[in-house]
Amino acid sequence: MRNFDTAKRIVIKIGTATLSANGGVNTAYVRRMAGQVKALLEQGRQVIIVTSGAIGMGIGQLPAEHKAGNIQMRQACAAIGQPLLMHEYHKAFRRHGVAVAQVLLTAEVLTNRKTYLNLRHAIEALLKLGAVPVINENDSVSTDEIGSAFGDNDRLSALVASKIDADVLIMLSDIDGLYDKDPRQCPDARPVPVVYELTDAVLKYAGGKGSRYATGGMKTKFDAARIAADANCRMVLANGQTRNVLRRIIDGAEIGTVFLPRRNLSNRQRWILNSKPKGTIEIDTGAMRALRRKKSLLPSGIAAVRGDFKLGDVVMLNNEAKAVTAFDSGQLNTLAGKHSRQIKKLLGPGHREEISVPEDIVFLD
Ligand code: GLU
Repeated sequence: MRNFDTAKRIVIKIGTATLSANGGVNTAYVRRMAGQVKALLEQGRQVIIVTSGAIGMGIGQLPAEHKAGNIQMRQACAAIGQPLLMHEYHKAFRRHGVAVAQVLLTAEVLTNRKTYLNLRHAIEALLKLGAVPVINENDSVSTDEIGSAFGDNDRLSALVASKIDADVLIMLSDIDGLYDKDPRQCPDARPVPVVYELTDAVLKYAGGKGSRYATGGMKTKFDAARIAADANCRMVLANGQTRNVLRRIIDGAEIGTVFLPRRNLSNRQRWILNSKPKGTIEIDTGAMRALRRKKSLLPSGIAAVRGDFKLGDVVMLNNEAKAVTAFDSGQLNTLAGKHSRQIKKLLGPGHREEISVPEDIVFLD
């Protein structure tokens, strides 16, 4: 789930709020990012940055009377701000001997096959050179009216991740991740560390009109997560201010929310995956291997039983899977390590031979 050891191609999206300070670019922040990205490059990974902030930087350059937000003015601000933004990236990465490359996109570029292939080839060439592509929307030429705009960089970053076959999209934002309720209104809101699937129940977590968290924030994050999931790309949504956020995410720390790629799960499997486990059955490696090959869990594979649970409860199998158990924890303690033939002798008649059948076992990854 959070093992990114084999993640080779990483897209990092940095939002305006994360990047800016006092009406300009937060230079110290870009420097810290550059240091962390350099460490990822040294591990043999490829990094693509999708940055926001051009419009914000541009606005910061203008006297107050020009700050009205019509489309033309925003486009003008983007044109003023984009080179300033790139200059910051250039300075920060130069300290590490890494070249950055500006790539400006419109929605049309990604939907037209010819320009998309051109883009893909250019990005492959840049990555081969060890450069870091820094992508933004070409705000000065794209507008919603002519259908050429992405509208926001959340979707843009997911589309980029999808089109270049990235393994993971790290979305750095000013929120800590997904909560089961709006954390600013509900003190009992709990963070959601993993989203297995964007079900209606998950989408409702960010419901509640009127809160920025719900609309401006999470809606586009969900859109991005869906695009990434369809492209078999994991997405991690995390607070960009978390210390060493990139390194820790890639090292597997439980930071923010990870959205997993889409799987074809039955309703029952989804229910299993979304249930809170009542305990854990520790099983040996041979048994785990058999489960991966769609075999049933038998008593002989049980090494230990933790927790107090009933027949029909959802339990963890080590840290790797969730399953519905056909025996309670007391019975399993009796059966641990035994052959299925002994079930009748140990527990009496009327029990089946399997603890969980394959349809009742769902792996977390
Ligand atoms: N492309 C915009 C900019 O650079 C940002 C859009 C967004 O943050 O979603 O200012």
